[in-house]
Amino acid sequence: MEKRNQLYEGKAKKVFATDNDGLLIVSYKDDATAFNGLKKGTIAGKGVINNKMSNLLMQMLEKKGVKTHFVKELSDRETVVKKVSILPLEVIIRNISAGSFSKRYGVEEGIVFEEPTFEFSYKNDKLGDPLLNEYHVVALKLATKDEINTIKNYAFKINELLKEFWLECGVTLVDFKLEFGRLGDGSIVLADEISPDTCRLWDSKTGEKLDKDRFRRDMGGVEDAYAEIMKRLLNHI
Ligand code: ADP
Ligand code: UDP
Repeated sequence: MEKRNQLYEGKAKKVFATDNDGLLIVSYKDDATAFNGLKKGTIAGKGVINNKMSNLLMQMLEKKGVKTHFVKELSDRETVVKKVSILPLEVIIRNISAGSFSKRYGVEEGIVFEEPTFEFSYKNDKLGDPLLNEYHVVALKLATKDEINTIKNYAFKINELLKEFWLECGVTLVDFKLEFGRLGDGSIVLADEISPDTCRLWDSKTGEKLDKDRFRRDMGGVEDAYAEIMKRLLNHI
């Protein structure tokens, strides 16, 4: 497999073409952004951690019947993935109130929900990723009703699997964002990444934040938190 030209540089990853039309190489950077790109910085070593963590979690999910884009880890920062057409949707599952949920509805962080919530945001930086309901998704032709159902089933299943996995590591899965894409045959697979950039992860005993909120909120100890969460995962796997 040969790496070809760079197709895209995003906020956290670069995407490269390969000599195989159906495959891409993603390369994880240490760059971090928050608040729709307004806050910029770097988290030393983050790219290496997110690459490895996302790959291990996707392989765990694959074993439990979730189709993902993962193909092969190439190096510390680089992974081969199936090329998909990304649905411009951020799929967000919440088990506990935090972040924009708390802000939007004026509630404290840390309320444990009886059932997880599901929401879509429109993946559109210019518009600031606005919230969408299912009718909006269909009206804007971002996904079909069938695709919405598939995504919903996957998202709740992924939540159960990740929640259990993290609990065994002494970590509470508060909320997270997923992205899905269409393969050439139209089938839906989990894409992008699962990492402390895209999940809120709290130490089960102390409630300490072990995720990107430490960067967003200038709490310090960002690198240590990423290293700690990776250590917990590796100890468990
Ligand atoms: P952003 O675009 O939000 O700045 P990243 O820096 O993570 O995010 O860039 C990675 C880009 O690659 C994202 O736009 C993501 O949707 C896209 N992507 C992730 N997985 C795949 C895949 N398997 N095929 C095609 N594109 C993908
Ligand atoms: N999230 C993400 N990318 C985004 C927005 C949110 O990965 O562009 C993740 C975020 O890390 C958190 C969850 O989705 O785990 C819910 O985020 P929220 O809607 O509370 O927004 P935030 O306050 O993080 O901007």
